[in-house]
Amino acid sequence: MSKFINETVTYVHHWTDRLFTIKTTRSDSLRFRSGEFAMIGIEVDGKPLVRAYSIASPAWAEELEFFSIKVQDGPLTSRLQHIQVGDTLLVSKKPTGTLVLDDLLPAKHLYLLATGTGLAPFLSLVREPEMYERFEKIILVHGVRHTEDLAYKDFFENELPNDEIFGEWVREKLIYYPTVTRDEFKNQGRVTDIIKSGKLFEDIGLPPMNKDDDRAMICGSMAMNADMSAILDSFGLTVSPRMGVPADYVVERAFVG
Ligand SMILES: Cc1cc2nc3c(=O)[nH]c(=O)nc-3n(C[C@H](O)[C@H](O)[C@H](O)COP(=O)(O)OP(=O)(O)OC[C@H]3O[C@@H](n4cnc5c(N)ncnc54)[C@H](O)[C@@H]3O)c2cc1C
Repeated sequence: MSKFINETVTYVHHWTDRLFTIKTTRSDSLRFRSGEFAMIGIEVDGKPLVRAYSIASPAWAEELEFFSIKVQDGPLTSRLQHIQVGDTLLVSKKPTGTLVLDDLLPAKHLYLLATGTGLAPFLSLVREPEMYERFEKIILVHGVRHTEDLAYKDFFENELPNDEIFGEWVREKLIYYPTVTRDEFKNQGRVTDIIKSGKLFEDIGLPPMNKDDDRAMICGSMAMNADMSAILDSFGLTVSPRMGVPADYVVERAFVG
């Protein structure tokens, strides 16, 4: 039996020449927790060509959403960037992953720390009711190089705060903090630098991170994950050692590279 479900593409949006979003149908049999990833892809020469992708839609949604990079010579994304509405997307039957609320101990604040397409799992979690029930404030930090890479900015600033279901929670609890490294922008600097220097906490009016009040989820490049983990360790937070063991923070790679 195939490891994949055939879903049908319902929507494609190109943000830039490096970033795009795909939405597909969702089969009833596909179960996952908000924040998990699946293997997705297309059939090439009769064989599945798949890569790991965070599911950007929440667990309760009727459709699936993915936020993707375009690597010009990448085996999958050099092809996937040409996918059209009506085409088939292969999605693995058993999503998994570490960025799940179950693996965080209770606290007041939750920091969602992303760079680039590492935003994807948090697009799922910001539409997860449990997150708002468990935390008083949720701070989503999205670091990118250029302002045009701030995909979903309008979603966070306009759509989500006015959403019928999530609007009230979002307005009261969610702080969206985009930051840019290579263009002029209201917030500048690498995610790691603004946390280490304390600039982020000054800007959002919260105390520096500490083990009693704060939890975090990290999703970026290997280097960003390692640097960020070292900073959180220095604040006294402890990483979840493996899936199913709750702790102060969890980490997932946004890509292998
Ligand atoms: C757990 C997990 C979750 C992932 N979730 C996503 C996701 O939600 N969206 C997504 O676009 N990718 C995601 N990836 C990366 C994805 O699996 C592929 O690497 C990506 O789609 C490129 O595939 P490719 O075959 O074109 O190139 P690959 O041969 O896979 O990659 C070529 C090179 O491109 C670079 N690269 C790959 N992916 C990225 C990226 N996302 N951002 C910046 N540089 C990259 C790396 O340097 C890599 O060595 C995830 C990876 C992991 C491990």
